[in-house]
Amino acid sequence: MIVTILLILIFLFLPYQPSEVQQTESTKVLSETGSSDIAVKITYIGNEGFLISGRGKKILIDALYREGNPEYVIIPPDRRKRMENARAPFDDIDLILATHYHADHFDPMAVGTHLINNPKAIFVSTNQAVDQLEMEFESYTKIKNRVKAVTPREGERIKMTPNGINLEIIYLHHGRSRPIENLGFIFEISTKKLFHIGDTEASEKDLQIYSLTKDSINIAFLNSWYLIYEEWQSGVKNEIQPDSIIVMHLPSKNKGDAYIESLGGWDTMAQKILKAFPNAYIFEEEMETKIYK
Ligand SMILES: [Zn+2]
Repeated sequence: MIVTILLILIFLFLPYQPSEVQQTESTKVLSETGSSDIAVKITYIGNEGFLISGRGKKILIDALYREGNPEYVIIPPDRRKRMENARAPFDDIDLILATHYHADHFDPMAVGTHLINNPKAIFVSTNQAVDQLEMEFESYTKIKNRVKAVTPREGERIKMTPNGINLEIIYLHHGRSRPIENLGFIFEISTKKLFHIGDTEASEKDLQIYSLTKDSINIAFLNSWYLIYEEWQSGVKNEIQPDSIIVMHLPSKNKGDAYIESLGGWDTMAQKILKAFPNAYIFEEEMETKIYK
């Protein structure tokens, strides 16, 4: 009897230990409602995937993928499930964007499942990605009126306002010799204008036709090669001229990646990027958050 009472007492006074996911991710949800001078909050998901929120709007871009590519960042199954089930902080998403249909950016089942679980979200991507969604997601008819396939011609801009978000879409090639449709997205969240280029290899000349400097981009999401290699840097400096840069498609800092080692290690690579672009920010781990005021 005494032993039972003791056990009950011990149980009652044991501190509650939430699981890893609850601890890290719900703490971040609480801070979501924080100070009103936050214009945009960006959470790194993996590869070119981000959760972007600001003043009541939320976007998921290149984040709803599954196995992806084993060479790049793989999202842990628990987090993937939260994203697909539209659970916090991945709830209430207004707009889902995918720059192209490669498996480290997009998965038709992941996007389809999120759209079923969040009847508000609108999905915008290339014809290739939407074709895959239609072919592989069996409940496609239930979501198809919230799915927009857009593939502009090179040089053209397509404008739309899904769920009240100002969005412009341009075509940025994924290597001239590859038949992969890739989109650049220019969109407004809160007081900021953002630009995500996907997996493009557009040169300075390719970028020129869009007169992007007139857009006054506040935050540009750029692949690491545009920042590391001199032959790519001029496109950013002359044709995009963003106030701030987010570096994309890097592994997490402590992964011990062979490509990063070939660049002299993470710190050397980061120093090189920051020397050429002091306005760049490099996420070191998944679910890390950066706030712009
Ligand atoms: Zn790709």
